Amino acid sequence: GDEDSESVPLPLSSNSTSTRESRWCDTTPYASKKKVQCWLQLSNGNWELVKIIRSSGTESVVSLPDGKVLKVHDESLVSANPDILDGVDDLMQLSYLNEPSVLYNLQYRYNQNMIYTKAGPVLVAINPFKKVPLYGNDYIEAYKRKRIESPHVYAITDTAIREMIRDEVNQSIIISGESGAGKTETAKIAMQYLAALGGGSGIEYEILKTNPILEAFGNGKTLRNDNSSRFSRVVQCNEGERSYHIFYQLCAGAPPSLREKLNLRSAEEYKYLRQSNCYSIVGVNDAEEFRIVVEALDVVHISKEDQESVFAMLAAVLWLGNVSFTVIDNENHVQAVEDEGLFSVAKLIGCDIEDLKFTLTTRKMKVGNDNIVQKLKLSQAIDARDALAKSIYSCLFDWIVEQINKSLAVGKRRTGRSISILDIYGFESFNRNSFEQFCINYANERLQQHFNRHLFKLEQEEYIQDGIDWAKVEFEDNQDCLNLFEKKPLGLLSLLDEESTFPNGTDLTFANKLKQHLNSNSCFKGERDKAFTVIYDTTGFLEKNRDLLHLDSIQLLSSSTCHLPQKFATQMLTQTEKPAVGPLHKSGGADSQKLSVATKFKGQLFQLMQRLESTTPHFIRCIKPNNLQSPGLYEQGLVLQQLRCCGVLEVVRISRSGFPTRMSHQKFARRYGFLLLENVASQDPLSVSVAILHQFNILPEMYQVGYTKLFFRTGQVGVLEDTRNRTL
Ligand code: ADP
Ligand code: MG
Repeated sequence: GDEDSESVPLPLSSNSTSTRESRWCDTTPYASKKKVQCWLQLSNGNWELVKIIRSSGTESVVSLPDGKVLKVHDESLVSANPDILDGVDDLMQLSYLNEPSVLYNLQYRYNQNMIYTKAGPVLVAINPFKKVPLYGNDYIEAYKRKRIESPHVYAITDTAIREMIRDEVNQSIIISGESGAGKTETAKIAMQYLAALGGGSGIEYEILKTNPILEAFGNGKTLRNDNSSRFSRVVQCNEGERSYHIFYQLCAGAPPSLREKLNLRSAEEYKYLRQSNCYSIVGVNDAEEFRIVVEALDVVHISKEDQESVFAMLAAVLWLGNVSFTVIDNENHVQAVEDEGLFSVAKLIGCDIEDLKFTLTTRKMKVGNDNIVQKLKLSQAIDARDALAKSIYSCLFDWIVEQINKSLAVGKRRTGRSISILDIYGFESFNRNSFEQFCINYANERLQQHFNRHLFKLEQEEYIQDGIDWAKVEFEDNQDCLNLFEKKPLGLLSLLDEESTFPNGTDLTFANKLKQHLNSNSCFKGERDKAFTVIYDTTGFLEKNRDLLHLDSIQLLSSSTCHLPQKFATQMLTQTEKPAVGPLHKSGGADSQKLSVATKFKGQLFQLMQRLESTTPHFIRCIKPNNLQSPGLYEQGLVLQQLRCCGVLEVVRISRSGFPTRMSHQKFARRYGFLLLENVASQDPLSVSVAILHQFNILPEMYQVGYTKLFFRTGQVGVLEDTRNRTL
């Protein structure tokens, strides 16, 4: 980059390699390898390829690309790979596996639009932030026929299909990465491949067609990503960001008759949309997008009548945001203002205007055996209004997903096997992190554990169980971090729920409780590597965790004359209540039976993990090369941080030293036994297997014989398969 000429090498005594780095770096000093090219880390953190001019054994004189000559400690030099390995398509092929070499290899490919690289079994995808010529029917066809071998989402999807058929096991494609790294695009590319295999008419095609619906209702513009998959941004939105796309699409694209029916205005007139001062996205035409969404709703057989109800619910949410209150006494109690906003909400929800006013400004409570009505103060009324808006939107989203699933399931052939594609909100760390980041990051830790389990734990356990010679590879286990969240009774989630139910609990008392109880956990409070620490602000945690929706609001919806609000009321009742645990709970009143948001979230997360556990996983790691959403800009530090965070480098190391192909003695003997040229004295599977290995001259370092299985390095079984195929 431009600043390189300003950069100076790190001081000679620098101890720049952290333990994390050195674990997977080749630590052999460069000099003993007589290398002429090495990596030198500059003070700006970037690595530069330098040439060795002279070396004393502890110090070297090197020349930088710009001709500058420097004297450096040998420890600050890291081996570089020979040019012939530039841009290998699997990081496993690198002779020297270290951070600068990996960064360089990825960048080398990235600069040539090769955004995909394998890291052993994992596919690394670097966001190009521009159109790259890697997709479409010709490519799909080529991957299908295995005419192209280079790493691709298509290739991984193809493998998933083949393994599903071969092993009769459900598959999953798990896509992870930070916000804006390209997860959703990658998921769409995988679906494209599946859809193309369906011949443009099958269920896969219809699934692809539903994408605009899910995106419109599930995504919004954030500062990091113009099309970020989000949740809970209906009532709050930061400067420069947008709420869900569908609101803007509706306001811009609804035809006149619909506008009139819903009393629809332009986006600028709704407070929920106005607060962020951002209405459009560069290069996006919301009215056109609206047309596409309506078309997609038709494809999944949502009737015109239902579509209108959907849009009415969206308009109701928008108008709710415009409902205002006036203070009526000196205790700050309020009354809802009877204006266009209030009237529109009542009409759109299909309820009585007096009921609506009452619900927004009072709360029915049970005290002993008496039902009393409590008047709400201004802030409480605003919270009640916002909670209603959020719940309507969230029910609407669930309802739409349900309709899509129903439509796709009807009359379709079902083989009973599936490929799940997982695209969830990625790990987030902002300047200010709140409850949403807390939930998102918790989910990502769980996902990381799944990744670790499959690629490190299970893999190594298998070697050890089968008694083969194996030096354990260390990896960053995140179990302690998960314990921090999940431990009972003293974990983040338990303490949050506890504080949320205390009448006197505040965000501050919550923060203090955490400090008091969790300080001993090494994952709590900045004790981890700085790059991995997320600082959370507990402001708003308790309020967001308590489900503020009150029974009164649910009753209001159930009194509606329209069918969607009625459905939502039923949906809310079943979702918010804990399963009845005997008569004890009956006396507690509605509030005490509610599940907190965090607990619901954890429940859903566990369901998801359970589902994933029963599948063969395929992992794709998306990487964001810069924070500006800009093409061609590759920031080494940013990429490195993401590679470290998800353990990609350890995966390469494990795969390189590991034995990814394995087969039981029986299967091996059965599959290749007939190729034997000489009779084997003993016919037991192990003896037959060993004889085969000898006949084919498989080198001893290329395989291991376990108690029950044979383990091979990558590519070793290929020769056997080829011979077998030729012979058959
Ligand atoms: P995430 O879901 O990880 O938050 P997205 O998948 O929405 O991120 O990607 C963010 C943006 O990056 C997309 O809107 C698109 O502009 C760009 N992008 C991501 N992947 C690709 C790709 N393979 N080709 C072209 N552009 C891409
Ligand atoms: Mg996304």
